[in-house]
Amino acid sequence: MAKPKFQTPTGMHDILPHNQPYYDKIYETVKKISSFYDFEKIDTPILEDFNLFVRSVGENTDIVEKEMFTLKTKGKDLLALRPEGTAPIMRSYIENGFVSLPQPVRLWYFGPFFRYEKPQAGRFRQFNQLGIEIIGEKDAIVDAQSILVMYSILQEIGLKDLVVKINSIGDEKCRPIYRKDLMKYLREKKNSLCSDCQKRMKTNPLRVLDCKNEKCQQVLVEAPQSVDYLCEECKKHLKDVLEYLDELKIPYCLESKLVRGLDYYTRTVFEIESTREESCGVVLAGGGRYDNLAKVLGGEEVSACGAAAGIERIVSEMKESKVKMPFSSVPEVFFTQIGPLAKKKSLPILEELRKSGFEVGESFGKDGLKAQLGKASRLGVKAVLILGQKEALNDMILIRNMQTSKQVEVSQKDIVKELKQILKEK
Ligand code: ATP
Ligand code: MG
Repeated sequence: MAKPKFQTPTGMHDILPHNQPYYDKIYETVKKISSFYDFEKIDTPILEDFNLFVRSVGENTDIVEKEMFTLKTKGKDLLALRPEGTAPIMRSYIENGFVSLPQPVRLWYFGPFFRYEKPQAGRFRQFNQLGIEIIGEKDAIVDAQSILVMYSILQEIGLKDLVVKINSIGDEKCRPIYRKDLMKYLREKKNSLCSDCQKRMKTNPLRVLDCKNEKCQQVLVEAPQSVDYLCEECKKHLKDVLEYLDELKIPYCLESKLVRGLDYYTRTVFEIESTREESCGVVLAGGGRYDNLAKVLGGEEVSACGAAAGIERIVSEMKESKVKMPFSSVPEVFFTQIGPLAKKKSLPILEELRKSGFEVGESFGKDGLKAQLGKASRLGVKAVLILGQKEALNDMILIRNMQTSKQVEVSQKDIVKELKQILKEK
């Protein structure tokens, strides 16, 4: 087949009808669980001020350096297609004065995000994320609660083999000392690092830990670990989070090299991975605490914690682990029509049936009764309505009970009553 003239842009895709039930199931699950935990939904614009992300995500991060889609409006504003959800939500929290609401403010979101990445399995340029944020609380219990909510969402969707990887990267008191020691270590190994990491080690040495290059990972085996540098408060915070996870019996492991790619994190960082053998540890969700973000964006100091999950990766896990999906509804009634007058009367009758709560099938493109009945029997409906020329003239209609093959003629105003009776019969 010849290549079509127009295709989706690189790294972007249609969500075709047969995949929609997966997205619906994920959406309904997030809505249900976040509502139990008192989260409210928020939508922020797809486009934001470019500098919102430079300030928050960080200048020397992959997202800002390489992955942002940016554009200049006719009015010369520099905007970016949102690469992530936390900075826009904090922008909204500050802009709308949410700080004067009872704290913490709990928010959830679901929608498309954009990153100019090299497309590969589980990595797209337009993808969807669901996310949760708990803003205005510094207690370690909300770190554990963020992990719990994300973990429960993934479990309730039907994914079974999950593990939480967790680490603490400290705060502005203890992190600088760690950073200095890490930098010293990296400087000694400089020649064994990839060219990206040689740059990163000067501007953002923690990001070297996140490098996916095998050679860099080998160099890092003996690198200093952030947990060994935590101040008393950060140590206590991590211990508390882990104790909450123990109580919840959520499986976790401490991952000393987990730092996450964004600048705004403080203390807790975590990821949730699939442990299914074939999925090779695909990361489904990530998150952490971000106590400095509000201040960086010009607001007051506000402690916060949150997480986001990649929907396409969840869908792919759902398929590969054969998660059971609900059957789509099939009609119990089929409407057929014969002749031009009957066809004209069809749409109002169907509309009345819809308002009365019936699932009704039809085949308006086919005018022969045989073809229409053929489709009805393929669908396995319990009743067929037949509107012929004569019935259309007399405001009557035929109803055939497909289980007994009995056929009755009823007045059109009694269709609902008669159908209810037939559908009740076994
Ligand atoms: P990675 O290390 O895989 O690049 P990340 O740290 O950039 O991930 P986050 O910013 O934490 O990812 O985003 C949260 C989740 O969104 C990820 O765990 C992943 O499931 C999903 N995600 C991130 N980038 C993409 C992408 N380009 N395509 C599809 N899903 C993505
Ligand atoms: Mg990334």
